[in-house]
Amino acid sequence: MRIVVLAGGIGGARFLRGLKKAAPDADISVIGNTGDDIHLFGLKVSPDLDTVMYTLGGGINEDQGWGRTDETFKVKEELAAYGVGPDWFGLGDRDFATHIVRTQMLGAGYPLSAVTQALCERWRPGVRLIPMSDDRVETHVAVTIDGEQKAVHFQEYWVRLRASVDAQAVVPVGAEQAKPAPGVLEAIAEADVVLFPPSNPVVSVGTILAVPGIREAIADAGVPVVGLSPIVGDSPVRGMADKVLAAVGVETSAAAVAEHYGSGLLDGWLVDTVDEKAVERVESAGIRCRAVPLMMTDLDATAEMARQALALASEVRA
Ligand code: GDP
Ligand code: CA
Repeated sequence: MRIVVLAGGIGGARFLRGLKKAAPDADISVIGNTGDDIHLFGLKVSPDLDTVMYTLGGGINEDQGWGRTDETFKVKEELAAYGVGPDWFGLGDRDFATHIVRTQMLGAGYPLSAVTQALCERWRPGVRLIPMSDDRVETHVAVTIDGEQKAVHFQEYWVRLRASVDAQAVVPVGAEQAKPAPGVLEAIAEADVVLFPPSNPVVSVGTILAVPGIREAIADAGVPVVGLSPIVGDSPVRGMADKVLAAVGVETSAAAVAEHYGSGLLDGWLVDTVDEKAVERVESAGIRCRAVPLMMTDLDATAEMARQALALASEVRA
């Protein structure tokens, strides 16, 4: 079975670990969000690609959900001693090596997709990890701070400001001109099922879908598209997804996120058992819906979520 997953960082990566356990023989292609990418200290950092790579490759800091395990911060301290910032983005020494290799290869002319493949030769994530695009896309968030309206990089909004101010708009800058990376449309065309993990619907899955051609390819693939809600009991399980949902006019609920994707894209949607009452509303929007436990508390629970998603996919296919 060929499965395509559109993944952000933590939610996507953890789900993928469960999917690999649930479907050990499946051929899994992951289309990764690169809208979170940022240049820091002259280095190209791809947080979501790295979170997937480290999580599946056994190098992730499990408690944090991002960054390397067994990390130290000597380089960051040295940079701070020179007064060189930003100091709000946590880059550890081990992690720095990944960004140095990436930046070096990009400088030598390799596209991000080839660089990602090279990095994965070390990590062996057991999936084919493809960035959504080789072109530069950067998610910016419009905010008002001290009466002044401005746009900040998504990382600045999320990490430095901790989404403490309202997001007025979320713009994937460059997406309109971006092309899907080599392999993206091919993977979708060859897929038996497409899954949206419980990743952020706006700044992770939404950004991937904003690359022209990707949404259309999924809608036209003629295979089941099933998603899992990142919203449980009307709030994000982790992080501040409510802030970016509000910016696109979507209420923070499992049903509203399904409607936001819409029946033109989604065939099936899983909500958590606490959101059982959402099932009827989602089904009346033309999307098959089931309520099952959706908390990725451990690998077995996550694998069961993946099984439920695949079961729903077979059901809508029938
Ligand atoms: P990010 O790029 O690191 O922010 O990660 P993603 O976009 O892949 O996923 C973030 C989303 O994962 C958040 O909106 C969370 O609500 C969701 N999430 C995290 N853990 C869980 C979980 O155990 N269950 C569900 N259903 N969603 C989760
Ligand atoms: Ca992310």
